[in-house]
Amino acid sequence: MNRLFCVIPCYNEQEVLPETSKRLEKKLKDLIAAGKISDDSRILFVNDGSKDNTWNIIKELHEKNEIFQGINLSKNMGHQNALLAGLMTAKDLCDAAISLDADLQDDINAIDGMVDKFIEGCDVVYGVRSKRATDTFFKKFTVESFYKLMNSMGANTVYNHADYRLMSRRALMSLAEFGEVNLFLRGIVPMVGFKSDVVYYERAERFAGESKYPLKKMLSFAVEGITSLSTKPIKLITGLGFFIFLVSIIVLVYSLVRHFTGQTIPGWTTTVLSVWAIGGLIMISLGVIGEYIGKIYLETKNRPRFIIESYVGDKEDVETSEY
Ligand code: UDP
Ligand code: MG
Repeated sequence: MNRLFCVIPCYNEQEVLPETSKRLEKKLKDLIAAGKISDDSRILFVNDGSKDNTWNIIKELHEKNEIFQGINLSKNMGHQNALLAGLMTAKDLCDAAISLDADLQDDINAIDGMVDKFIEGCDVVYGVRSKRATDTFFKKFTVESFYKLMNSMGANTVYNHADYRLMSRRALMSLAEFGEVNLFLRGIVPMVGFKSDVVYYERAERFAGESKYPLKKMLSFAVEGITSLSTKPIKLITGLGFFIFLVSIIVLVYSLVRHFTGQTIPGWTTTVLSVWAIGGLIMISLGVIGEYIGKIYLETKNRPRFIIESYVGDKEDVETSEY
């Protein structure tokens, strides 16, 4: 029988948790009644160092009904790491796990389709947004640019797919083999392989509370995605370097000709402009290389990606653990 785990990272989500838990519980009960998943399926909340009442709400939910379980991280580890903490815990307990956001933006009715595809033999089922009617123009624009940039840089992701997906136990086991500290799940999961499919859903507005992904975080997420999946920026810099080298040869020949034909005038403008242009390019290039060196630095440290402080649920005996 298929034991399903729904894994939900939560950071300051006290406003939405009561509703999210209610709707998810109903969804799982329906699936259990339909005989599609086993009756020991679970909803696993990961409290990512929330400053509000989130963890207490999760504990209360668990006390009332053991379908709700919770992982309490020792501090805020970020969305991707919180998700990984949940998935890595679920992988030893479930046959399939679905990851979704706490804010009900991911339409939970898509779970039916995911479970059906899983039963048909898919190991990974991606939730793909069919439209973004409720997002602001700005969010739509930045997200579009994000995907375009990612794919043009060779970091292949599933278009319009965030982290709403189902993964089978063996896909999760394979995911566990990817030990990188700079984790970008939606880029890594396609690398796992296995049979996959997509399920379309409409992304709703955040049920309550506010987005934890302001523009600054989205930008760093994009940089993270590209640099952890692709080395294309380094190649671009090399190309740029060659191009500038060629241009400088032309400039050299040109200025020598001017010099010997006695046509030189004090070229303040060109000097200043080139100093600025080349200076800027060097800075950008160093920055990009720095990104990669920073990554290498962090990877060599091999720090744990999350630390679990406590757990309520089937793994209660596990007091602390790391991955
Ligand atoms: N989240 C998290 N840790 C963080 C930031 C966010 O666990 O440091 C969770 C958050 O509670 C939510 C999910 O990640 O369940 C997605 O965040 P959010 O809805 O704020 O992002 P958006 O939908 O605006 O991109
Ligand atoms: Mg959201």
